[in-house]
Amino acid sequence: MGMKVVYLLLDGVGDCPLQEPSEWKGRTPLEIAKTPNLDAIAARGVCGMVDPVAPGKACGSDTAHLNLFGYPPEQYYVGRGCYETLGAGMRITPQDVAFKSNFATIEGTTVTKRRADRSFEHEGPILAGLLDGTVIPGFPDLSIKVMYTTEHRCAVAIVGPGLSDKITGTDPLVDDRPLCVSEPLDSTAEARKTADALNTLTKEVTRKLETHPINVERRARGKNPANLVLFRGPGSLAPTPPVAEKYGIKGAVIAPTAIIRGVAESVGFDLPKLPKEATGGMDSDFKVKVAAVLDALDEYDFVFVHFKGIDDASHEGDSHEKVRQIERVDAAIAPLLERNDVVLVLSGDHSTPCIKKDHSFESVPFVYCDPVASADAVTAYTEKECAKGDMGRFPGDRVMPLIVSRIKQ
Ligand SMILES: [Zn+2]
Repeated sequence: MGMKVVYLLLDGVGDCPLQEPSEWKGRTPLEIAKTPNLDAIAARGVCGMVDPVAPGKACGSDTAHLNLFGYPPEQYYVGRGCYETLGAGMRITPQDVAFKSNFATIEGTTVTKRRADRSFEHEGPILAGLLDGTVIPGFPDLSIKVMYTTEHRCAVAIVGPGLSDKITGTDPLVDDRPLCVSEPLDSTAEARKTADALNTLTKEVTRKLETHPINVERRARGKNPANLVLFRGPGSLAPTPPVAEKYGIKGAVIAPTAIIRGVAESVGFDLPKLPKEATGGMDSDFKVKVAAVLDALDEYDFVFVHFKGIDDASHEGDSHEKVRQIERVDAAIAPLLERNDVVLVLSGDHSTPCIKKDHSFESVPFVYCDPVASADAVTAYTEKECAKGDMGRFPGDRVMPLIVSRIKQ
């Protein structure tokens, strides 16, 4: 009989042997952390090493998740702009072109500050609301959707017929450089139209922002006016069969992190609303997320839960914090081990060695733990132990077929 599946994804959990402190030398954070629950899952299940995208390839969380969800990035990856936009909660279609955007400062034609102000939580939503729905002058069939996200950032999408994402953005990427003019990247009429519309839109946005009372006041107080929006990472969604259609299952993703929500949304997972204590950062309340998983199991065949804090600690090169985050996840997942009616799948999405402070190419430890199937000899969730497991080393696109076949058994 089929069984429901919970996938525990520990972002950036894989690591390399640490060099310090001396008592930790030669061991990885997973080997140092006290993880009775993760080890119990490994002991009850079959283990292996997964290459989230491909052997020897360092990957982003977005491409890794796409591939683990069974959507090969070479066919379905549509760029960070799209995922951040979807993750912020904006609905876009494959016809629209989405951007990752900043409120910035322009003087004449020079972008003096690419980030007008990092403390923009009050003003950002007001200015995003002002710009939302703007019709682009000279392009009566094109308008924009704008949504404030975090700090100086907002998500923008151009909506209308005959658009293309084969254009360059307007962000000079460095302060005190001229604003870039968007150019088409191919010879289609759609790319030409979109680049022209984006250049016109940039001027219209500045016209609207320049005289807004928020900017009049900011200038009066000697602050940088937010009189420009920079457009970067243009992308359109690829036509994508949703998970319900592709696999015939009902799936939910528990993740507060915008980019993961965006990837999940792009392939049609449901995204249950989470309490604000689930922050998507190192301060996230992991127990609240596990409670959300248990709730979702009433309704869904497959529940995927993403733990981000481990990766954040790795990017800071803080091995002590990484160990602490791993132990926090371990404590939070205890209620899931009591469920003998659920298959647990456990892996990372890439390694993020503390010594490198960045994503790296190593394969990551994987466990498939089925209450009514046999286990292998592995008894600890670590890089070295899982490498001895029965599943051996395999690519990430093998994971969903395994899960789906178990749900439908
Ligand atoms: Zn990641």
